[in-house]
Amino acid sequence: MKYFSTADNQLLIGGQTAERLAARIGQTPFYAYDRSIMTQKVQELRNLFPEQLHLHYAMKANPMPAVVHHMAGLTEGIDVASMAEMQVALDTGISPDTISFAGPGKTDKELTAAIAAGIMINMESEGEMERIAVLAKTLQLTPIVSIRVNPDFELKSSGMKMGGGPKAFGVDAERVPAMLARCAELELDFRGFHIFSGSQNLKAESLIEAHTKTFELAYRLAQAAPAPLQWLNIGGGLGIPYFPGEQYLPLDEVAANLQVLMQEAATRLPGAEIVMELGRFFVGESGVYICRITDIKESRGETFAVTDGGLHHHLSASGNFGQIIRKNYPVCVANRMTSDMPEKVNIVGPLCTPLDIISDKTPLPPVSIGDYIAVFQSGAYGFTASPRDFLSHPEPKQILL
Ligand SMILES: *Cc1c(COP(=O)(O)O)cnc(C)c1O
Repeated sequence: MKYFSTADNQLLIGGQTAERLAARIGQTPFYAYDRSIMTQKVQELRNLFPEQLHLHYAMKANPMPAVVHHMAGLTEGIDVASMAEMQVALDTGISPDTISFAGPGKTDKELTAAIAAGIMINMESEGEMERIAVLAKTLQLTPIVSIRVNPDFELKSSGMKMGGGPKAFGVDAERVPAMLARCAELELDFRGFHIFSGSQNLKAESLIEAHTKTFELAYRLAQAAPAPLQWLNIGGGLGIPYFPGEQYLPLDEVAANLQVLMQEAATRLPGAEIVMELGRFFVGESGVYICRITDIKESRGETFAVTDGGLHHHLSASGNFGQIIRKNYPVCVANRMTSDMPEKVNIVGPLCTPLDIISDKTPLPPVSIGDYIAVFQSGAYGFTASPRDFLSHPEPKQILL
């Protein structure tokens, strides 16, 4: 794996072996995140992308407070999707107006908290805008708002499409001009647009097309805005490779297109801050999930290594979160990285369901009870994206190194 090293045939995470980390944490399973990899990922983008482009961390990818704190120091802002996430972002001490809050179905309690905190609300519907205006009047505050736009195009080849066609997210682009007129009447502090079209994309040409269309849409909608745009969030969607055959996204191609788009935006949207929001790209590769083999059995010619971790801790690796055809995340035996005689093994969890697979038919060094299994690419959509109460086994721990 690109960002990890080994010593004495053992995987090192933040310079330490799985065995030593397990001793320090007091148990397996656990998630370990290496902050230096997060820093490296942000730096990779800064080196290639236009310097005027601001980067935000979309914290639902990994909301561990220590991770959010680290990311707050590396980026220009944090994007939150709930009131609890908002509190974690505010606790980092960053300026509230660099925090933005998106997500359909925000409650009055959440909107009130966001207005009182002075963070930007990305409005997901006309109804939400009306509620914000009423709540703000009661508080005698002027809310900072943007409109989340459901674009009239989609991000092709995306792991998760979140724009284009009928969607629960944002306001259809064609309804935005009328919403802007109403927004001016309500005297909200309107800043701009949030246009997020999808996630987990590894194709430069798809992202280039989506970015180009995003700016075009923003120019069109800006004509109906009550004041010049101060802010444009162009979404993110940069993916990371998970499965055999997947390649790293050619960032330089995406960067070259953004360079042209940003130059044009400097004249067509003068003074507007352009933001890209990313979760998985920044933190996904920084994390490993570690569990331990508790039993090994044979069944009709196949070997099964049963571990103390699985689907309930790491739904994504089990293939049950956003995958249509189950594929294996990259795994290794952390205490025996290589062997001359690999054997095919099925790594499974302890749950009484055939869905509880960590890695199937995977060539690995011969395994023993007590070995540590590491699942890579586990820094995003792991711990908090998993049904940890399912079957009532103990919780995994998390550590930031
Ligand atoms: C989930 C989400 C993101 C982050 O997506 P990643 O694939 O983790 O980069 C960004 N913006 C919005 C609006 C989201 O809902």
